[in-house]
Amino acid sequence: MIIGKSRKELEKMRAAGQLVGRVLQELRRMVEPGVTTLEVDRAAEKMIRDAGALPTFKGYHGFPFSICASVNEQVVHGFPSSYTLKEGDIFSIDIGATLAGFVGDTAITVPVGRVSPELLKLISITEECLERAIEQCREGRHLGDIGWAVQSHAEAQGYSVVREYVGHGIGRKMHEDPQIPNYGTPGKGPKIKKGYVFAVEPMINMGRHETKILKDGWTVVTLDGQPSAHYEHTIAITENGPEVFTRVVEAEQERVEVVGV
Ligand code: MG
Repeated sequence: MIIGKSRKELEKMRAAGQLVGRVLQELRRMVEPGVTTLEVDRAAEKMIRDAGALPTFKGYHGFPFSICASVNEQVVHGFPSSYTLKEGDIFSIDIGATLAGFVGDTAITVPVGRVSPELLKLISITEECLERAIEQCREGRHLGDIGWAVQSHAEAQGYSVVREYVGHGIGRKMHEDPQIPNYGTPGKGPKIKKGYVFAVEPMINMGRHETKILKDGWTVVTLDGQPSAHYEHTIAITENGPEVFTRVVEAEQERVEVVGV
């Protein structure tokens, strides 16, 4: 059952989303060659707890960390570790925080130092896939419209869309109904209604779509060993269209100021 949220609940979800969005911005600034993925995890947990929230991932079905840290051919659910990020890597950070009983969930893929144009393109197309999906998060559209927005854009570039892992409804729990695949048929699937909140998260592979799980039982990698990128936002469906709870506006302003200098 898809749980619609009241205005009050949406306010709480906005606060959770903004918190986790800000933390992710900070983590993104930390990423550079020489940093370990465990250092990023520790910083994430501290920022979340200092803000009076809980790291949603920690302990979720036994997941032992506050972020998922997935490098290069790792798709999602990677363990933070002593792995030291190096120039040319791409690093996907997925993070969730629970504030006042509601969850925000967001992810980004960050280039480490200078990376190849091919990888930069994979990252930017994945981000575009998410933006196109967000445009479909409107009353009266269907879940298939979201999936198609992602799939059509990725496949037009020769990329593929991961099938086994999907987006999801979100609220008091991180994973609520419905499942939101990154593939689909326009006009098909459940109708989208006002008050729904979705975590939409395209996982785009440079090569083939198949994945496998490593022996740790969590880390998902591409079967062909080619790189993968991941973006995610928590999005409310409102009468005024999609509201992206995990989007942080300050970062945009900072970038403008830098250009102004
Ligand atoms: Mg998610």
